Amino acid sequence: MSELTGGPALPQERRVVTAIPGPKSQELLARKNAAVAGGVGVTLPVFTRRAGGGIVEDVDGNSLIDFGSGIAVTSVGNSAEAVVRRAAAQLADFTHTCFMVTPYEGYVEVCEALAELTPGDHAKKSALFNSGAEAVENAVKIARAYTRRQAVVVFDHGYHGRTNLTMALTAKNMPYKHGFGPFAPEIYRAPLAYPYRWPTGPENCGPEAAAAAIDMISKQVGADNVAAIVIEPVLGEGGFIEPAKGFLPALARFAKDNGIVFVADEIQSGFCRTGQWFACEDEGVVPDLITTAKGIAGGLPLAAVTGRAEIMDAAHAGGLGGTYGGNPVACAAALGAIETMRELDLNAKARRIEEVMKGRLLAMQGKYDIIGDVRGRGAMIAVELVESGSKTPNAAAAAALAKACHAAGLIVLTCGTYGNVLRFLPPLVIGEDLLGEGLDIIEEAFAGL
Ligand SMILES: *Cc1c(COP(=O)(O)O)cnc(C)c1O
Repeated sequence: MSELTGGPALPQERRVVTAIPGPKSQELLARKNAAVAGGVGVTLPVFTRRAGGGIVEDVDGNSLIDFGSGIAVTSVGNSAEAVVRRAAAQLADFTHTCFMVTPYEGYVEVCEALAELTPGDHAKKSALFNSGAEAVENAVKIARAYTRRQAVVVFDHGYHGRTNLTMALTAKNMPYKHGFGPFAPEIYRAPLAYPYRWPTGPENCGPEAAAAAIDMISKQVGADNVAAIVIEPVLGEGGFIEPAKGFLPALARFAKDNGIVFVADEIQSGFCRTGQWFACEDEGVVPDLITTAKGIAGGLPLAAVTGRAEIMDAAHAGGLGGTYGGNPVACAAALGAIETMRELDLNAKARRIEEVMKGRLLAMQGKYDIIGDVRGRGAMIAVELVESGSKTPNAAAAAALAKACHAAGLIVLTCGTYGNVLRFLPPLVIGEDLLGEGLDIIEEAFAGL
């Protein structure tokens, strides 16, 4: 491939040749600030020229190590060979007909793949959409149609999107909800099994939190009124929180016993990110519905709701869909991404990334007592930062560490209800040398605090 190609051909090395952001990025940032709505924020204003493997190259010629994957999207790498090959072929054949007007095979193939890959051996069906928020909205529509109930239960620290219904489902006010109300009714928030911050300690967290959540649902909402329980099996924006063991199975059982649709929002945690196809497999939970997006299509916009055929069929014909949902190019990209995940065994790669990252981060925790918690699974790993000798959230440290990493040419993101979590989401195809170099930069950032 030519030197000008991104994707797999891009040299896999970090190179910082200007200030970050460099002069060309600064110029583009000024144009962005003049032309793009202020509400659309930017984490790191280096403008991208090419990206591939574990590298993002900017317009000034800097090559940054990518521990963000465009927020857990490019798990197979940017411009992955099979994604480009299949999407390009589809682009040349046709770009759009609208599946609801004259359908095409790619959409059906993606739904068949989802039925095969998602947990459970029951009959499954899917519907495709453009974004994660749209998938979550449709999961709620389907659950309401099936149960003929209205209430939806979500959890502390949950994140489900930025549309009106999903803002209501999302926990954190700033920046997601502030000033954007009124929000959709019939949404109820239950406590989450957050091991690090559970008052009686992590070992009691799973059963106690499940009892508290079930008590809240039973006493305040009434189980018979609940259409759906919606939860991320590993929380994303809320702080990469792994609910304590036992919590998800207890809720899934409660849902089953009470005719409630159990929805796993796997938009961030799905498609090999945690070292399994879906994070709910870790405790053998079989959700009634699963929402997917982000990693599904190697960077093209695609999302899905997949679940029990009888639930998925509850909505009347014409009740689900959208002009672009399941766009043929995005479907071709998804088939290329899934092919890549299988061929390169990206679940194994994610587990190896966990081993390397946790080894290094736990060693850092021994040296730097502001690291309160090291957690996550696969290539979805985070450190929660606190004030020394306490559990008081330390958002300033997270911001300072992110800034230092950015300046050194490493893309990292923060998250968490308290803004005090530094999270790492490398592409699953990242080379181990780049992974180690990224961790060196993180360690230097701690040393320099
Ligand atoms: C990102 C995300 C969403 C929203 O997806 P969009 O494509 O941004 O609409 C929903 N749920 C979870 C868990 C997410 O991480």
